[in-house]
Amino acid sequence: MSDLFVELTAPNGQKYTQPRGLFINNEFVKSKSGETITSINPSDESEIASVYAAGPEDVDLAVAAARKAFKSPEWRDIDTNARAELLYKFAQLIDENKELLATIETWDNGKPYSVSLADDLPDIVNTIKYYAGYANKIHGQVIDTSPLKLAYVVREPLGVCGQIIPWNYPLSMAGWKLGPALCTGNTVVLKAAEQTPLSILYLGNLVKEAGFPPGVINFINGEGRKAGAALASHPDVDKIAFTGSTATGKEVMKMAALNMKNITLETGGKSPLVVFDDADLDQAVKWSHLGIMYNQGQVCSATSRVLVQEGIYDKFVAAFKDQVSTGSVVGDPFKDDTYQGPQVSKAQFERVLSYIESGKSEGATLVAGGEPHKNAGGKGFFISPTIFTNVTDSMKIYREEVFGPFVVISSFKTEEEAVRRANDTTYGLGAAVFTENITKAHRVARDIEAGMVWINSSNDCDSRIPFGGVKQSGIGRELGEAGLEAYTNRKAIHVNLGNRL
Ligand code: ADP
Repeated sequence: MSDLFVELTAPNGQKYTQPRGLFINNEFVKSKSGETITSINPSDESEIASVYAAGPEDVDLAVAAARKAFKSPEWRDIDTNARAELLYKFAQLIDENKELLATIETWDNGKPYSVSLADDLPDIVNTIKYYAGYANKIHGQVIDTSPLKLAYVVREPLGVCGQIIPWNYPLSMAGWKLGPALCTGNTVVLKAAEQTPLSILYLGNLVKEAGFPPGVINFINGEGRKAGAALASHPDVDKIAFTGSTATGKEVMKMAALNMKNITLETGGKSPLVVFDDADLDQAVKWSHLGIMYNQGQVCSATSRVLVQEGIYDKFVAAFKDQVSTGSVVGDPFKDDTYQGPQVSKAQFERVLSYIESGKSEGATLVAGGEPHKNAGGKGFFISPTIFTNVTDSMKIYREEVFGPFVVISSFKTEEEAVRRANDTTYGLGAAVFTENITKAHRVARDIEAGMVWINSSNDCDSRIPFGGVKQSGIGRELGEAGLEAYTNRKAIHVNLGNRL
C-alpha cells in the first residue's frame, strides 16, 4: 500500500481504503510541499487520517489538468447523450457506495449516520441524476429579426470552474456544484473544506470508475487561505462557485475580480421564522425545531431567529423547550436515536460557546442549554441545544450568525412589525411563515426579503428548486433549472443573409 492510501476502520466497524492524495487528472498524488492536514473525529477528538494539502503549485497543476480536459475532444466534443450517461453512472456508483460514504461523512463531520444515509447521500445522488437529465437538453435559441439576418444563440460552457465547498454538507455541496457544471460541459477543480476532506477524496475513486476523462473533475484538499485563495485568484480559472461564510465570500469576490471571473456565492444567514397567533402550534414547533437544530444547527439557511406573535408566545416557548428536551437527543452520531452529534471542530464549538457567553452578558434569558454537552467519554465538541428568550434586536445573538444548535426567540405584536423586524438584517437567505390564513401567508412571503420562503415549514430543499440568497446571503442560484445559468454563457451568432440585395 502506497503512502497515498490508508486502511481505516470506522467507529461502526466499517473497513475501507481512504485515499490521502489530491485527485488530479484521475490520479491521487502527493502535494508538492508534502504538507498534510489531519482530519479529526469531532465525537472524540481522535485523529482519523492525515491527507495531503494543496498549495499554490498543486492548484496550478489541477487547473492545468482541467484546462487541458476542457479543450480535449474527449470531453468538449462528446455527444451529450454520452455526457449524460457519465453523470448517471457517477450517481449510480455513489448510490452503490452510500453506506460507506455515509460512514465517512459521519466520522469526519459528526452528523448522525442516520442523517448522512437518509438525507445527504440521496441529495447528492438525486442532484447528479437531475443534472444528468439536463446534459442533452441545453438548448440554444433562434431569434427572428428580419429575412436579411439569421441570429441564433448557443449556450456554451464557461471553462474551468473553481468550486469551494464548506464542511457542513461535504457530499451534498459537491453534488450541487458538480452536477450543473458538468452537464453543461465545464471542467472542475473542487476544493473540499479542510475540516472534512475524506468523503470528497473518496469520490475520486468513483469519478475514475465512472469513466470521466482525466482532468474533467479534480478534487483538492487544503486550507482556505492557501489552496482556496490560490484557486479564487488563479488567472486561468473562469468561474468561482463558493459556499461558506459571508466574510470569506467577500474575500473570494475580491480575488475573483483579478481576472473578472464569473461568480456564484452562497453565504451566511440569520433567517427569520415568523409564527402568527393563528398558526397550527404543533406544526410550528415541530418545524422550528428542525429549522434550527437539524445538522447541529450548522445550516446556512437555518431559521435561527424565531419571532412569535404575543398571543401564543408563552405557549410556543414552553412547547419548543419540550420539543428540544425530547427531540434533540445529543450523542454518538453512529447511534440510531441520535438527533444531534458534535459540532464539526473545536473552533466551531468554541464559537458557539462564545455566543452563549454573549447572550448571557447582554441580558437575554437562557431557557435551555447554554453549555457543552458531556457525552459518555467526556470528549468531543458537543453542545447542549440552546434557547434564549427576551432577546432584543440590537443583541449580537439576534444579529449574527451563530451556526450552532442555538436559537433566539422574540415576540411581536403586528404583521407590520413582524415583517419589518424579519427584514432588519444584512442577510436574506431563507424565511419561514406560520399561519393558517392563506392570504396573509402569501402576502408576508412576498414582503420578506429572502431568496427562499417556507410557508408552514422550514428548510424544505429539493434539487429541482432554486436555492440561494439576496442581500449579503449570496449572488446567483444553485439547483433547479436556474442552476444552469451559473455555468453557461449565451453566445450570439449573427449571420448576414442580406449582402446580395
Ligand atoms: P468557516 O469559517 O466556517 O470554516 P469559510 O467560509 O471560511 O467557513 O469556509 C468555507 C470554504 O472556504 C472552505 O473550503 C474554506 O477552506 C474556504 N476558504 C476559507 N478562507 C478562504 C479564502 N481566504 N479564500 C478562498 N477560500 C477560503
